[in-house]
Amino acid sequence: MSLHLRYAAISDRGVVRQGNQDSVFAGSHFIAVADGMGGMAAGDLASAIVINTVARLDVPPPPDSVVDELADAVADANRAIRRCVADDPQKEGMGTTLTALWFDGEWFNLVHIGDSRAYRMREGGFEQVTVDDTYVQMLVDEGRITAEEAERHPQRSLLLRALGASEVEPAFQTIKGMPGDRLLLCSDGLSGPVSDADIARTLQSSATPQEAAQTLVQQALDAGAPDNVTVLVADVVEEDPGEQRQIIGGAAADQRLAESDTAVLRAVREDGEPADEATVDLRPSGGGEQAEDGKPAKRRGRVWRTVLSCLIVLVLAAGAGAYWARTQYFIGVSDAGNISVFRGLPFEVAGLRAAWLDTESDRPASEATDEVEADLADGIRVDGREGAEAELEELTDPASTNENLDPLCSASDTEAVPTAAKDCRED
Ligand code: MN
Repeated sequence: MSLHLRYAAISDRGVVRQGNQDSVFAGSHFIAVADGMGGMAAGDLASAIVINTVARLDVPPPPDSVVDELADAVADANRAIRRCVADDPQKEGMGTTLTALWFDGEWFNLVHIGDSRAYRMREGGFEQVTVDDTYVQMLVDEGRITAEEAERHPQRSLLLRALGASEVEPAFQTIKGMPGDRLLLCSDGLSGPVSDADIARTLQSSATPQEAAQTLVQQALDAGAPDNVTVLVADVVEEDPGEQRQIIGGAAADQRLAESDTAVLRAVREDGEPADEATVDLRPSGGGEQAEDGKPAKRRGRVWRTVLSCLIVLVLAAGAGAYWARTQYFIGVSDAGNISVFRGLPFEVAGLRAAWLDTESDRPASEATDEVEADLADGIRVDGREGAEAELEELTDPASTNENLDPLCSASDTEAVPTAAKDCRED
């Protein structure tokens, strides 16, 4: 028996927040909610990157490797966030939750990290499917506070896990779908201000996913909606509901995120961009997105461009960095131990040595004073090729007045103080 999903999704900015850092995706095979965090407009980028990376899973899952592919998509999303942070250190700390389900017509393959939630209504029974990766959930698990205390705890939104970290461990689980199941994915902007009991009542009483989603968002707004509110409702149905539009909403559908495009990207984006990924904007008051009856707009491509632009900027930055490094000079020690001019940088860049031998003198570094020898080991930065040649000349000048080199020993000195001989220059 192959079952189907009938879905609706809304992402709303809420009452208090200036922007929407939540993102949502819904398709016939894959549904996902992400709640971004981080200042400097980074949270919305994080959730948009993740949603647009994992949205590729909106195809029938491969029977044998579903968990692997789910894990790969999440790992790819995490890498994409980290590349953006590497490219722009101001985005350090940006991250996102992800709660997503990949449906094969019978089983839900669920991946979860953070405090967005999946709930299931089955035959009147209401159940939270995911476990929050939060500090207060840990306290509840340890029996130190009750679930009711957790709801009012001042640190209730403190996450223990999120995408964007150097190492992520999402939770995976598999749940068998049953006809009549109603699933809810939501960000904490719903589950915070609206109680589980109220959520359950609305899911129970709404005729369609669309009605349920709209009512739930309204309940969050009525409760003051201090955070962005994202709600995705999916019914498990036996009858094929026919063609449904993919929904992409929240930050992932935000035009502004696409505006970091540059001319460089135009060539890239014209290559192989999916042609028919329509999205819908139903935000009646500039707040959220919905599907099913709005006007389509091709937006997924734009967010892909943002993701791509982050990657390309990084590559360009690395290339420009390598070019710049080759214009730099320093004085160091050659493999043969001689004082030499190098082009490049006297330290490793990303684990790679970025230095090229330019001019090698015949003066061993060991003949320099201890102080100069230590400086040489670190690399003495100089200004351009001329600066390098002047410095090399100064360091290796055989004149006896050269303070950079150990003093010359006269034959009589050597004889008089034989133990000091090794500290003296041999010429
Ligand atoms: Mn939130």
